[in-house]
Amino acid sequence: MRPTTLFVSTLLAGILSSVFAAGTLAQSGYLTLTGKVVSQDKGNHPISLATVTVVGRGIGTVTDAQGDFRLNVPTAQATDSLQVSCVGYQSVKLAISAATNRALVVRLTTAAVTLNEVQVQARRKTAADIILEAVAAIPRNYDTTSVQLTAFYHEDQQFDGKPVRSSEAVMAVYKTPANQPEVKDGLKLIKGRTKAYDQSQHHLPSIVNLSNGARSSLTNDLVKHGTAKVGLFTKRGLSYFDLKLSTLASDRPMYVIDLKPGKRKRKAQGQGKIFIDMETLAFVRIDLQLTQAGLDAENNRQWILKKMASIVHKMNLKLTSYNLVLSYRPYNGKWYLNNVERQFDFWLNSPSRKLIDKRWNVSSSFTVTAIGPKGIPPFTEGNIGEDGNAISSIIKNQTDSTGWATDNTQRTTSTDTASVEQSTWPLSARADSPKVRVSNRQNGFTRADTLRGKLTPLRSQYDVTFYDLAVKVDIPNKAISGSNRMRFRVLAPLDKLQLDLYANMQIHQIRYAGKPLSFTREFNAVFVQFPESLRAGSEQELAIEYSGTPQVPDRSVPMMGGFLWDKDRDGHPWVQVVCQGSGASLWWPNKDHLSDEPDSMRISVTIPSDLVDVSNGRLLRKTALPDNWTRYDWYVSYPINNYNVTLNIGKYAHRRETYGPDSLTLDYYCMPYNSEPFRWVFDGVKLMLATLEKHYGKYPFPRDGFTLMESLHPMEHQSAVSFGKLPTGRADSLSMVDTLRLMQLVWHEVSHEWWGNNISCRDMADLWIHEAFATYSEGFYLDSVIPEEGELGYIASLPEQVSGKEPIIGVRDVNHIHYNIGDMYAKASLVVYTFRHALNNDTLWASILKGIQQRFRYQTLSTKDLVAYINERTGTDYTPFFDQYLNYTSIPTLQVKLAEKGQSLVVSYRWKTDVPNFRMPIQVTKAPDRYEFITPSTDWQTMTLPRMTADDFEVDETRFYVKVEEIEPLADAK
Ligand SMILES: [Zn+2]
Repeated sequence: MRPTTLFVSTLLAGILSSVFAAGTLAQSGYLTLTGKVVSQDKGNHPISLATVTVVGRGIGTVTDAQGDFRLNVPTAQATDSLQVSCVGYQSVKLAISAATNRALVVRLTTAAVTLNEVQVQARRKTAADIILEAVAAIPRNYDTTSVQLTAFYHEDQQFDGKPVRSSEAVMAVYKTPANQPEVKDGLKLIKGRTKAYDQSQHHLPSIVNLSNGARSSLTNDLVKHGTAKVGLFTKRGLSYFDLKLSTLASDRPMYVIDLKPGKRKRKAQGQGKIFIDMETLAFVRIDLQLTQAGLDAENNRQWILKKMASIVHKMNLKLTSYNLVLSYRPYNGKWYLNNVERQFDFWLNSPSRKLIDKRWNVSSSFTVTAIGPKGIPPFTEGNIGEDGNAISSIIKNQTDSTGWATDNTQRTTSTDTASVEQSTWPLSARADSPKVRVSNRQNGFTRADTLRGKLTPLRSQYDVTFYDLAVKVDIPNKAISGSNRMRFRVLAPLDKLQLDLYANMQIHQIRYAGKPLSFTREFNAVFVQFPESLRAGSEQELAIEYSGTPQVPDRSVPMMGGFLWDKDRDGHPWVQVVCQGSGASLWWPNKDHLSDEPDSMRISVTIPSDLVDVSNGRLLRKTALPDNWTRYDWYVSYPINNYNVTLNIGKYAHRRETYGPDSLTLDYYCMPYNSEPFRWVFDGVKLMLATLEKHYGKYPFPRDGFTLMESLHPMEHQSAVSFGKLPTGRADSLSMVDTLRLMQLVWHEVSHEWWGNNISCRDMADLWIHEAFATYSEGFYLDSVIPEEGELGYIASLPEQVSGKEPIIGVRDVNHIHYNIGDMYAKASLVVYTFRHALNNDTLWASILKGIQQRFRYQTLSTKDLVAYINERTGTDYTPFFDQYLNYTSIPTLQVKLAEKGQSLVVSYRWKTDVPNFRMPIQVTKAPDRYEFITPSTDWQTMTLPRMTADDFEVDETRFYVKVEEIEPLADAK
């Protein structure tokens, strides 16, 4: 399985133009204030981004590019006052009653800038000291409890000087504590509207779109990232800049720090101004532009997508400018995010489309219009905080223009912005909705988890050799009924055993030797009592008859599987079951523990005759039954883990071809209307299998053949791999990003035939073994598309997907599912890459990968088995390496001290890790732009590098997933 976050972080998102339709709308319960803010001493020049708030309330807005604002104030606050403030000006307060005048103009006077730094110097503080003190004061100045914000988002795109699209939305924000950068903010659309202009007018190719700009705006909250150990607001980060300090004598005196790239300008990615409140040391406003180094870095960061664009779509996109303004405002003794303004330009070139040096300009504005309430729970439904799609596609195209007048929208778009969607999620309705209780490290585990995950004698005393599963699928009632005959070998004498079937499913009878047995049930466990003790070594057989309505997946809960009941594009039923994590016992009775796989299995599925069932292995026969039913008998001739057993029912079209010298059968299934559009996916199968076989050895299940199919959900079902369906359902209009995602997904799922199906973990705690190597295999696909560069670009994209909240290895004996499963994919694959690069012997590495597949063929294994095998093959003890990466959330930190002495650079270095005796070679620049290995340990070592400066020193943080910490300020070589 693959979670929905994939490596392609879609392009940056966008800015502000502004069409301001003035007008005071009298709404009952609200006063609508409109006005203009201008500069008194600059000839009434409009002031943009001035903050207009109701004093002592959370309500506010900012002015647009023309200095105009519109603010709805509840009539209950009609006697309050309004404050208008802007960095660089003296604030003004006025009575709201005075502001109801339509022609309100607020004039601000400029605040004096003090250049002599007298006040600052008296305290002997440098600009860097002040910034670091302001960082240290973040937990004091900004809210460290969660708070709900209401925000207005507006975004405009232009191409070649012509409008492309405008979107705006009112949103609820779940703002997480300022001192917890790792907790992502949530976003919920309250309502939105979007207008697309005629493509024949602007000519922007339709495959070019933005990602969710509201989300991107929120991730720019630098205060939230100020407490991070890397980045701009650290000693190391600041050392790349020349800082100039002055003060601003407004009614709230401020430090003003000019930030310009210093000597080491290759690492200074931005420039701008930082305004810090003198009294509280709060960041008030941050204006930043990317420098050329920053633009280069950004263009590199997205390069794999751009490379794809140039190869597949013959088009080049280059970021040429990026401006950001962030502001914060005080409220009730704390400071809150106020506004995020972003503007950026791309240059687009596509000679085949006759587009040369065309400017694609994006502007966006994210304005907080209300603060509070505090202490709210995270959004569990409707959260678009991690949705990468364009805001316009999230809003969709529905029309309803009601309700906007009472929202604080900062500015309104001209009336021809027609498409509007009605409020989708009531703001507070979900807060207390009953959620499924999920067992995990946070919530703790229960007896039910132990029954499910522990190998007690009632389970370990027998070994399943064969399942004969037969189910009839009642599609209209979303129910199934059937039986499972289980053959098993008795390993130790037993008169009682445990089976598993979810408690919501009914058991009608359990038969042994022709007679019904007595049984009891506790949670999802079934305890079966035999009339006498079964002899060790004997072969036995049980038959369980059962029926029920199996659970359906809840996608907000990690790995909560079930039956998917859907329809295809033509309205025909489409059904699939997925149960990785939840376990096969959610739909059929079995010994549901990963340690025990049957040696073979039969799967019989009875369905309406006009549909097709695709299950695992070979189709033995198709039998027509009375009343328009048909039974499909499938046979799996290899061991199979229970969660891989599946059914896929739909109006499938089928195609077969063969592959290789042994004529492996390749069966392809998809919806008939996608047969042609998906042909290229199936046409890529032979190359994919050849690549995977080259790395991992022969396809493990030749007798059963290989099947690949379109399905409702992607899943690595053994010898019946499914790749899910397209978000649009249309295979003939795939965008570049969709193409990449789909093929990555196919390679991921198919590589599970080796990692997960041929060799399988013995306990859910070790599930990373499946996902790390499947994610690793996605790199082969990218390398096949972009030779020699694709994989590296792919590796570089992985770290941003790591959450690092819990160790990769789970808790044993409880069928533990991580509360954020993503690290088993991104982080664990980075561990594999790091190991490979540290080993620095690709021949040995290739032999180890094939060797694992051979040694554990058709078996289950644990992390310990895997590491022991690697140690044996390499003759080196890598236990501390895997221990650090898999059992701890922190990754190895390379601490370095850099000192320039004459023409040389003296570098001291060591590993900082949780695990003692951690050693790992890593590449650093020993000469400018040339990586070589050093072998740090947890003790300090020192080396002298001739003709090197501190600016030349780099650690290969792409091939090696590590942190670098420069722990002492640079000694300048003056
Ligand atoms: Zn997977």
